[in-house]
Amino acid sequence: MITFRDIFSTLKSLPIPAQRPVLVHADLSALGEIRGGAETVLGALTGAFSGVMTPAFTLRTQVIPEDGPAHNGLIYGSGREQNAAAEYFNADMPADENLGALAETLRRHPVSRRSDHPLLSFAGLQVDSALNAQTLRDPLAPVQVLADQEGWVLLLGVDHTANFSIHLAERMAGRRHFVRWALTRFGVRECADVPVCSAGFEAAAEPLQDLVRGLPLGSAQILAVPMQPMLTRLAEWMRQEPNALLCGRAECLACADAPPES
Ligand SMILES: [Zn+2]
Repeated sequence: MITFRDIFSTLKSLPIPAQRPVLVHADLSALGEIRGGAETVLGALTGAFSGVMTPAFTLRTQVIPEDGPAHNGLIYGSGREQNAAAEYFNADMPADENLGALAETLRRHPVSRRSDHPLLSFAGLQVDSALNAQTLRDPLAPVQVLADQEGWVLLLGVDHTANFSIHLAERMAGRRHFVRWALTRFGVRECADVPVCSAGFEAAAEPLQDLVRGLPLGSAQILAVPMQPMLTRLAEWMRQEPNALLCGRAECLACADAPPES
C-alpha cells in the first residue's frame, strides 16, 4: 500500500525545483494500491510543486463533417454514428475516462480551474496564466506557457505515448496538426491545430534518456522531464527525420498527413 508520505518524498526527490509547475499524466492503477487514491496523489503533487496541470480533454464532443480542408488526417462523412452520439461541451463535463482518475480528481477539486476548449481543455491549480492562454486557434498554448515557466512533465505509470507536450515539439518542427469540430451550446465550433496521434511517441524515450529522471514508486517507475530541453531536442530530431515519432500504422491518416510538405 502506497501512502501520502511515499508519494510526497518520491516527488521531492526528483530534481524539479519547488517553484516550477508540472504537467502530469497518470495511470494510477500502474502504481499499485494507494491509500486515499487519486486525492492522495493530488495532495502530494500540490504540496511538492507550485502549480499542477493535467489534460481534461473531452473528445466525445467531436463531430465529423461531410466535407472540409484537404490533408486533414480523417475521412469526411465517416462519423455519422459518432456524430449522433456526440455530446455538447460544458464546463462541468467529466474529463475523458482514458485520462485516468487523477485528471478527473483535479478537475473536480473545489478550487481548481479548467480552460474552456471544447475538445482539449486542461484543469489546473495555480496555473491560471497557462489555462487563460488557450484559444480555439491555439489549443497547445497552456503547454507553451508551462514550458516558458521552465515547467516539467511528470509521467506517473504511463509512457511517452501519454506525453502530450511532444505535440508542441511537432508544431515547432513544422509538422501538421488538424482542424477538428466540436459541439457546443453555441453550435459547432471549428478547432484549429488539433494534434491527433501519439501512438509513436514512446520512441522519444531514447533521445531523451539523459534528460529524463526516473524513480520507483509502488510497482511503477515515475518519470520527470524538463519541458524546454525536451521540446528543443525532439523538434530538432523531427526536423532531421521527417518520420520520427510517427506511429507507422498503415491505417493512421493523421501520421500520413503530419510531415511538412517538402
Ligand atoms: Zn499515427
